[in-house]
Amino acid sequence: MKVDGQCHCGAITYEAEVEPGTIAICHCRDCQRQSGSVFRTNIPAAAETFRITKGVPRTYLKIADSGNRRIHAFCENCGGPIYACAAENPKSYSLRVGALNQGHELGAPSRQIWTRRRVAWLPPLQDVPAADGQA
Ligand SMILES: [Zn+2]
Ligand SMILES: [Zn+2]
Repeated sequence: MKVDGQCHCGAITYEAEVEPGTIAICHCRDCQRQSGSVFRTNIPAAAETFRITKGVPRTYLKIADSGNRRIHAFCENCGGPIYACAAENPKSYSLRVGALNQGHELGAPSRQIWTRRRVAWLPPLQDVPAADGQA
């Protein structure tokens, strides 16, 4: 399914193809810190379908505790997240569901990871398959 999205201020826009029903939630500390919320909601897009249609995002190299290196791209004007991808030869781009214009048409999450970092007050999302760590 074709989707498009933008940062909050509109300086950066993009489009991609995603598969409805492939949304993942991540409860890890990095996602909490980077989103400013208690989990992040992502959907993957194959690299060949992802295209920035306006603007140039800034990028940040995130090195995980595991040593895994990922690029996080965001709008330098409003701070809105654009994507995350592998630092070398990305095969897919992880898009932020809340930034997509079709976010409500993509179905419920199909998995959640890092549930051991899930905040205690959040109901456990019983119907979403869970992994307590990276999966
Ligand atoms: Zn912006
Ligand atoms: Zn995470």
